[in-house]
Amino acid sequence: MATDLHAIGREAFSSLERHGIEPTPENYLVWYTHHAAENPALSRIIRILEESGDSFDEERCRELYQRFFVHSDAQKFLHEATERISGLTEALERSLSATARETDQAEQRLGAICAALDRPAERDRLIELGRMLRKESERLAAGARTLGEQVRYTSEEMRSLRVVLERVRREAETDALTGLANRKAFDHKLRKLAIQAMESGRPLSLFVTDIDHFKRFNDTYGHQMGDVVLKLVAQRLRHHLRPEDVAARYGGEEFVVLLPDTALAPAAAIAERIRRDISTHRLRERGDGRDLGRVTISAGVAEFRPGEPLKAFFERADQALYAAKRRGRNRVVREDELEDHPGLQRAAAPPPA
Ligand code: GH3
Ligand code: MG
Ligand code: MG
Repeated sequence: MATDLHAIGREAFSSLERHGIEPTPENYLVWYTHHAAENPALSRIIRILEESGDSFDEERCRELYQRFFVHSDAQKFLHEATERISGLTEALERSLSATARETDQAEQRLGAICAALDRPAERDRLIELGRMLRKESERLAAGARTLGEQVRYTSEEMRSLRVVLERVRREAETDALTGLANRKAFDHKLRKLAIQAMESGRPLSLFVTDIDHFKRFNDTYGHQMGDVVLKLVAQRLRHHLRPEDVAARYGGEEFVVLLPDTALAPAAAIAERIRRDISTHRLRERGDGRDLGRVTISAGVAEFRPGEPLKAFFERADQALYAAKRRGRNRVVREDELEDHPGLQRAAAPPPA
């Protein structure tokens, strides 16, 4: 991958030329971003499409531009919410300073009326001063009413904005294809649950799972059917998990599941149940009902050792996953089945007498 900007630019142009795509600014942006390795998700899709041998045309390029460079719904909502919040604050500031100005003026006028009342006065003058007092109080009441309406409107708007922002937050934490948590949300949950496990002294386990020979499946049945499989795996994970468990799409076809309050053996049993469920599921094409066979998954399970770096916890599950792949796929491997496993502290046997 080129690192100097001219070289990246040249690579982008040569890719455009190779695929016979017009060098429009949009198309160039897609390829420049890919060659500069600035967006792993975009590069992954480009690689998949290139490897699949499908011709890479204008249409594909436009789809990628739309997906990666045109604002998502969440971004649009966020933009709109920010605009509405600044509109509201400005209007509220204007109302507040107008009310403050009016209150100041009213205070001065009331001071003058009170001073006049302190002096001896004719009946007619007293009636006039009374009328002036009434007018001032009416003015003040009207000002307070306007401000009250403004505050009510602002708080209603704020309530509806909270709903919008909550939706944006959820979208930012969700994988769009499968509806599971995304990697960022998973990392956050992992930190949170590890702290909880250390506080409570309860176990915490995780398993990493990866679809077996998924490239072959994509090559045979197409990327869209591949996406259907990803959704199916997500759905089966959800089916077998409790509400407090966290399932996330960690990478292209790799999922990870966090199981609070669960030790290694029960965590492996859950992974095994999910593996069996998926492996017995026959896939059919929705349109013509064509039989697409089955897909299988492999999984690696690990239990958290209080105080260890989270990276080490994750890596043990990942090593177990790779052992599962090496041992023939379509299986679940626990960290204590790895050759170099030092043994779990929690589960350590008492020393010999
Ligand atoms: P293994 O059993 O060793 O995991 O083999 P594999 O083919 O699954 O693994 P490899 O890492 O070689 O390939 C992963 C494939 O996953 C590459 C790509 O075709 C597919 N893939 C990754 N992300 C996506 C996606 O978002 N959608 C679809 N349809 N396929 C994807
Ligand atoms: Mg795979
Ligand atoms: Mg993989």
